[in-house]
Amino acid sequence: MQDDKVQNLPFPGNPVVPQTFDDSKVIQFQCNKGIACWNACCSNIDISLTPYDILRLKRRFDTSSGEFLQTYTVPYEMEQNSIAGVKLRPVANGTACQFMTPQGCSVYEDRPTACRYYPVALLSLRRQDEYTDHASYALIEEPHCLGHKEPRQISVANYRKEQGLEPYDDLARGWRQLILKKKSSGPSIGKPSKRSLELFFMVCYDIDRFSQFVASDGFSDIYDLPTEELKNILCDDVELMQFGFRFLRQVLFGEESIALRKEATEERRVRLQERQQRLETEATARRAMEQDEMYDPEE
Ligand code: SF4
Ligand code: SF4
Repeated sequence: MQDDKVQNLPFPGNPVVPQTFDDSKVIQFQCNKGIACWNACCSNIDISLTPYDILRLKRRFDTSSGEFLQTYTVPYEMEQNSIAGVKLRPVANGTACQFMTPQGCSVYEDRPTACRYYPVALLSLRRQDEYTDHASYALIEEPHCLGHKEPRQISVANYRKEQGLEPYDDLARGWRQLILKKKSSGPSIGKPSKRSLELFFMVCYDIDRFSQFVASDGFSDIYDLPTEELKNILCDDVELMQFGFRFLRQVLFGEESIALRKEATEERRVRLQERQQRLETEATARRAMEQDEMYDPEE
């Protein structure tokens, strides 16, 4: 792999064979219910979720994103890049997926991207001078998975189709690009603040909270979204998720695509200036007090 490319391994911890290929590669694999290793892969999980995975699953359970996240996921920081991520939470005191049943996956129609891809891994690559990413793939060969011994040959392109991955990948592209951009920003930007991690988490994973934020007066005071666009975003989770990626590109990387209200920009500038002055005044007062204590004549 070239140095000027940034790699995104969506399945950390898995033994990915370090050989990458494009989707014309033919692999030998088939998973079926009668196989001796049935459910072995779901008994010990390490599944990262995309924003669209969460959207599908929360819809399935007809629950809020907040409740879904609390019950079925654990937050984590991706690698050393301090990017907020979310994984499936296994059963209490165990390693198996909460959705695993003796018959197989109980959320099969809405199973996450990583489950659909297995045993293929999607690697997103991006040159530092480009914005778009390029997909490439690798094969995960774990000893417990007997699917590799089944005689079926299939290209990665057809495997992706079979597993219904095209819409999943299309709808996660904005999120993957944000991650790649954050990774490639590296130390020049430094460790992101707790606030930017929380913002990334809310926008990407807690879609109902993000919806409340976009619907709030505070948001409209700052951003000048046409009423019709705002309405469309607020009544469609997928539209809202895509808007969220755009919003994060603006907030985190300064790529302005959402108009700011003039008054809000001015108010923000004044607020920041006042805050700066207040901090300076407090620092001066603190320094003066410290000097007074140092020369206290009663000591
Ligand atoms: S979501 Fe389904 S396929 Fe994925 S690990 Fe859980 S049980 Fe297995
Ligand atoms: S063949 Fe592989 S993917 Fe299928 S059940 Fe067995 S371990 Fe899981």
